[in-house]
Amino acid sequence: MPQSAEKVLDHVPLFCEPEYEKMFARKKLKFECPHPDKVVDAQYEFTSTWEYREKNLAREALVVNPAKACQPLGAVFAAAGFERTMSFVHGSQGCVAYYRSHLSRHFKEPSSAVSSSMTEDAAVFGGLKNMIDGLANTYQLYDPKMIAVSTTCMAEVIGDDLHGFIENAKNEGSVPADFDVPFAHTPAFVGSHVDGYDSMVKGILENFWKSTERVPTPALINIIPGFDGFCVGNNREIKRLLDTMGVTYIFIQDASDQFDTPSDGEYRMYDGGTKIEDVKAAKHAEATISLQHYNTRKTLDYCRELGQTTASFHYPLGIGGTDEFLMKISELSKRDIPEAIDRDRGRLVDAMADSQSWLHGKKYGIYGDPDFVYSMARFVMETGGQPTHCLATNGTAAWEAEMKELLASSPFGGGAQVWAGKDLWAMRSLLLTEPVDLLIGNSYGKYLERDTDTPLVRLTFPIFDRHHHHRFPLMGYQGGLRLLTVILDKIFDRLDEDTMCQGVSYDLTR
Ligand code: SF4
Repeated sequence: MPQSAEKVLDHVPLFCEPEYEKMFARKKLKFECPHPDKVVDAQYEFTSTWEYREKNLAREALVVNPAKACQPLGAVFAAAGFERTMSFVHGSQGCVAYYRSHLSRHFKEPSSAVSSSMTEDAAVFGGLKNMIDGLANTYQLYDPKMIAVSTTCMAEVIGDDLHGFIENAKNEGSVPADFDVPFAHTPAFVGSHVDGYDSMVKGILENFWKSTERVPTPALINIIPGFDGFCVGNNREIKRLLDTMGVTYIFIQDASDQFDTPSDGEYRMYDGGTKIEDVKAAKHAEATISLQHYNTRKTLDYCRELGQTTASFHYPLGIGGTDEFLMKISELSKRDIPEAIDRDRGRLVDAMADSQSWLHGKKYGIYGDPDFVYSMARFVMETGGQPTHCLATNGTAAWEAEMKELLASSPFGGGAQVWAGKDLWAMRSLLLTEPVDLLIGNSYGKYLERDTDTPLVRLTFPIFDRHHHHRFPLMGYQGGLRLLTVILDKIFDRLDEDTMCQGVSYDLTR
């Protein structure tokens, strides 16, 4: 046996041992009924053609590997950004296990959320009893300050009414009548996690804002970050910039501490988050700014209806994105941008210039949420790169139009194509027919990386197979430096690999 007490192998080398190789081959033959290798190879060849690409891009009735998650996942993430808030998902346990595991695998932190554990009987007769019992258990067991309720497919299909159910549960004594139970209907069969995020943030604001008068506070600015797997690094960087400028602000939905608790012997089910008093005070802000437009459309409409000034950005990073964000903050807060931030900007420009010869003309495939793809395409063009394939499964026609406008604004956007509503199987065809130098996305791109031989840079949620990236910012000028570094690292790693065949140009200095 390859494994013994004297020679303990990790699973990777262990499964490459001849015994396991033979076992896998036997299993494949016996249970997988595989096609002969030459048939598989022929199929690979066919799926690499333009003919297959046209068929693949015309596909409507099937989605393969969508680059998005369902609405309630966004709602659970949103709730994690508020003080002592427990997410309560009205639906089945399996769905909630998916949200918890998705968030835990990305952040490498515990992720708490409960479900009303609906099963067959609730699916037939409605889930009111589950809501009554579930809210009572959540309140008693987890000692929250607020319970944020969202829904899964099942609850939406049968039409459970959250407002009515929560009122009923309060009448039954599950939670005190004045206990805060904001809610959002988050039907998972439409939209994506960014819509669930939007609905839950709006639901929480409505819960606290609906019955109070607004007394505008000049120069007070609300910041809503949007669904962001890099919230730990990004929120802290944005706050650093605002503090450096001396801006008075309220960060609405801040999950940076919840998903970055220290190991000091104390388990924190809740940590950080926007304080409930601050959520209440945020109604009086002069303006609300969203860092991700497509994550906050309904919420910003609501803020506007109340009389607040609103503005939204597309994940402000790089030079242009950060410039616009800071100038808007400066205009609204009447605070100048201090020299320390100017110097940060200058350092990023300097770093980009230092590496320009390695970045100019590089082609990229970019996928992810609409705001992320927009900002990355913009940044890539700032470095002289060409964003060749820009894909957002949850992208809308409005996003597509905005992307085309952005790409038309730069000579580097000329060859770019924008794909709203397409999935990662479509991206595979794009990469095989029009290869690029780098793919930017999340961990799911690793299969494309191997299949199409396109180096992957992991820069957006979820990142399961690499650790701690989310602890460093991507936004702002400081974030731009990190972005630049990880892209360059990938370029240099590939370059070093490519030089191995001849042994020439394997240079010490790049
Ligand atoms: S898509 Fe529906 S069934 Fe699947 S995890 Fe989301 S809510 Fe649950």
